[in-house]
Order: sequence, then structure tokens, then C-alpha cells
Amino acid sequence: MKSVSCTGASYLAPFVEVVTQDGSSYRYGKVTPEHTREILLRHFKPVKLSSRVKASVLNLLERIVEEPYAEPVIRFPSDIRDSPQINYFESQKRIATEYAGEMSPLDISDYIAHRGFDAFKQCLLKLTPEDIISCIRKSGLRGRGGAGYPTWQKWLAVRSASGDVKFVIGNGDEGDPGAFMDRIIMESSPFRVIEGMLIAGRAVGAQHGILYIRNEYPLALHRMSEAIEICRKHGLLGPNILGSDMSFDLKIVEGGGAFVCGEETALITAIEGKRPMPGLRPPYPAESGLYGKPTLVNNVETFAVIPWILLHGADNFASSGTATSKGTKTFALAGKIRYGGLIEVPMGITLREIIFKIGGGIQNNKQLKAVLIGGPSGGCLPASLIDIPVDYEALTAYGAMMGSGGMVVLDETDCMVEIARYFMNFIQRESCGRCVPCRIGTRRMLELLEQLCAGKGSESTVAELERTALAVKKASLCGLGKTAPNPVLTTLRYFRDEYIAHTKGHCPAGRCKALITYYITDDCIGCTRCAQRCPADAIEIRPHQKHEIDTTKCTRCDTCRQVCPVGAVLIKKRNA
Ligand code: SF4
Ligand code: SF4
Repeated sequence: MKSVSCTGASYLAPFVEVVTQDGSSYRYGKVTPEHTREILLRHFKPVKLSSRVKASVLNLLERIVEEPYAEPVIRFPSDIRDSPQINYFESQKRIATEYAGEMSPLDISDYIAHRGFDAFKQCLLKLTPEDIISCIRKSGLRGRGGAGYPTWQKWLAVRSASGDVKFVIGNGDEGDPGAFMDRIIMESSPFRVIEGMLIAGRAVGAQHGILYIRNEYPLALHRMSEAIEICRKHGLLGPNILGSDMSFDLKIVEGGGAFVCGEETALITAIEGKRPMPGLRPPYPAESGLYGKPTLVNNVETFAVIPWILLHGADNFASSGTATSKGTKTFALAGKIRYGGLIEVPMGITLREIIFKIGGGIQNNKQLKAVLIGGPSGGCLPASLIDIPVDYEALTAYGAMMGSGGMVVLDETDCMVEIARYFMNFIQRESCGRCVPCRIGTRRMLELLEQLCAGKGSESTVAELERTALAVKKASLCGLGKTAPNPVLTTLRYFRDEYIAHTKGHCPAGRCKALITYYITDDCIGCTRCAQRCPADAIEIRPHQKHEIDTTKCTRCDTCRQVCPVGAVLIKKRNA
């Protein structure tokens, strides 16, 4: 029995997989301690007859006593081919998350048994740095952190830069709300990340590696630190690695969780102990990066992919994906999706396949309205575009972007103006303030969106919002500012009618609090639940009588609607 790396199936956690001696696999989701005996007895029969009888009797007694209260275990045998869970797992292609749910994260012998460090040894003993870069070039790998810059070009630039001291930085800061790709990769495959950084160090001629990990990721920090220590003990980090002339060591720098650190020059200033702010380019980090030395910055997912490419071949990697976007990409599937979690899929897959085949569709049988792809500065694509392929160029053409891989699914109950306001609220707080267009522009966009959500905007508010968004996109210094208007611009592009409705005091989705009121219908049975739970004392307790909401006190928190057993609490949209 062993605890293993994350399977990515967050919606099934806690998750148990039983692999029997003949190799058959049986998966169990949402397992509780009470389920474990039953699961084990299903697969591992006690040898002695007396033990078998005892186990059966105990099991029966437990069922009689506990069955009415216990949640049934959800069982997903892998031989049910049409099960949604099988779709979830088998529609994916694992490269960065290879061996998810199979290996113990900190067991180096387990990693080595799965050909761990073979790619690095090959790079160290058989390939020249130029061979390595050429292999990465052939694979078509583009940076997985957001910008999608060809990885080999960065590597070659650092390789070609003059200087005895060079750095490799792994960006594990992951600032997008709702995204957890990098966290899972670092928690699940710390040796894989280290191996990718070792290969990069060998290719570019660096001696020092730094992993920048946000301090809100304690498990990732712990596992990466432990893995680094283990590698040092095995001679895989430090001076003269495996007896060669290569010396390379890694250290971890804890980040404070700033979204702007997704921008590599800001990340570098943070590592130098300064306030993270993007710098003007050129010079690029490849020429003058950390402490003025040539520096390679890649996302941890990019590093996790590298060993696979070296081991399985560039052509093999490039055989997945589209003409310009090769290989696979991880996504954090969140929002109103039925089966959320971390997935890894081939580039070029459609949003429809991700949302409906892997994700099982929309929760509570609601309709898909939009999908926000690319994090808080990504774009909202409407349901009508779910057949476009997921690749860098296609997403950009429709106003979204790959980003680092956050994917938030929205349903018919979501208000697109409110969604734009929510993400603008995040982005304007994360603006580092260095350049005026981003510092002032994001603040102004938020004010305009707040006016619209409050029903205080007019058509000129919408026009000013659009003008400001275009100006911020054009004039901002770094990627944060240039992409900050994306949610506004895409919601304006695809959901302009919702903006216009807000200028008339109407929120079509019934989400903007200033534009709705709650009321109770004659279906009320007087159970008093809503009155007991209302945090604003807006409902008087009147047992067995129809209840009423005092709209002057109601804060529209939605609690009463959620607790009402007969659906008697409804929302009235203003100016409907
Ligand atoms: S929406 Fe919230 S504040 Fe308003 S009546 Fe219901 S429980 Fe009370
Ligand atoms: S919870 Fe529903 S049924 Fe119960 S008193 Fe409130 S409105 Fe009436």
C-alpha cells in the first residue's frame, strides 16, 4: 500500500485504486474510513476459513448497523468502458503529469524504476548541449507559463550568452485564482521538475538553479525541498554530478504570491529581494537577468515535460497537437463543471471534448454559457465557440489565450458583466503600479464595471469601458497590463447585450445584487428555516404561516433560497 501522486480527479477525492495481481485496476472515489474494510475485503480475501467467516460476519453486522447512515462508496471499475469516470481518465494524455496516481512523490527509487533521470543521464553522457536544444526545437515545445514562447529559442539565447555564471529559474508562483497546475506538478512529481531543470542547466551551461514557489503552497515547498535534499544525497545535484564535470545546484525561494511574477523580469527582481516590478526589455533575461547574469526562466510545467521529450523523442511529442501548438497542456478545470480537477490533454482538443467528455458537462443540468480560459486575464468564450481547437493561435484569434491553463466554466446563471468585474477587481489589485496605463486604467475599468453592476451605468459607460480597455491593452508595459482587459473585451465582444441590459437596470442572469430582490411565494409551508438562517434578520419567524422578506434589510446573500425545502424563495429581476 502506498500513497501516490495526485490523480487530478479532484471531484473524486479521497481516491483509492486497487490493482490486483493480474493487473486489473479498480477505482473508488469519495472514500471514507468506513469504506476501507469493505473495499479491501472485495479484493483481498482472508486466507484462513475462520478469518473469512469472521470478516463476512463483521461486514454484515457493520452493514446492518451503519448502512442507513453511511454514504455509499462510489466504485469505478476500469472495465466499464462507457463510464464518465473512464472518459475523465482515458481521454487525457499524460506527459507533464505522467504516472499521476502511480508513483510516490518522494520515493526516488520509484522514480528511477519509472526511468527517472534516464533522460538527464543521456544528456549528460551522450548528448551535447546543442543536441539537447535541437531536440527541444524539433519537439515544437512552447513555454507552458502563458506566453507560449518557443522554449528552444530561450535556451539557445542563454546558451549563446557570454559569461561564466548563468542561472536557470523554475517559476512555480502560479498566481491565477483557481489554477493549480503547477502546484500539483510540484507536489506530485518533484523529481521530474528537478530533472527538467538539470537538463536545462546542462543545455544552457548554468551552474545555479532557483525554484520560485509561492508561500501559499506549503506541500509543494516541502516536497520540492525534500526532493532537492534527496537528489544531493544521490549525487544528482551539487558539484561534479554523477562524477561528471557538470556542477549544478538548486535552491528554493519562497514567493509572496504576486500575479505580476508571472512576468519573468518581475520574478527576477523578486528573487533579488526587491519589489517585483517588470523591467524594460531589452536587455532580455537571457543576456542580463538575475544579478545581471544570463538567465533562463521557464514555468515548472515546461520543465516537467522536458525529460519525456528527451526520453521518448521529439517526433513523438510533436505527433500530438496542431501545426503550431505541439504536445499536451495541463488545465485546472473549475467552475460549474461536473467533474473538476487537473487534466492534461493533447493540444488541438476542442473545448467541447474538455467540457462535456472529460468534465461530464455542466453541474445541475444547467446550460453552458461561457468558458473563461487563460486565467483572470484570459478571455470569456461563448458556448457557440466550444468547437474551436485549444491551441495558442486559435484561442488568441478569438480574444482568449492559453495562459498557464486556468479554465473556468460558466453556466446560464452567471452574469458576464459581474464576471468581468470580479476578474478586474483581482487584476487591478495585482497591478504593480509601475506604468500609468495599467495602474490607472485597471482602476478606472473596475469603477465603470461597478457602476454597471449597480445599475448606475449608461451606454456612455460601456463606451468608456471599451475605450479604456483598448488603451490599457495597447499602452501597458508588461504582459499583465496588456492582457488585463481581455475579460472585458471578450465579454463586450460576445455578450454586449448583457452590458446594454445593465445600462437599463436589468441583470439578465439575476446575479447583480443591486438589480434583484428576493421574495417568498405562496408555496411557503412556514417551516421557518429561512428566518432562522437569515444573517440580516430580514425574515420574521412565523411558524406554519407564509413568511415575508423585508427587502430594506435583505442583503441578497441567497441563504434563504438555498435552505428553503420547497423552492418558495425566488429572485425578482429589476426591469425584467
Ligand atoms: S437573501 Fe439573505 S439577507 Fe436576504 S432574506 Fe434571504 S437570507 Fe436574508
Ligand atoms: S424556508 Fe421556504 S418554506 Fe420555510 S418558511 Fe422560508 S420560504 Fe417558507
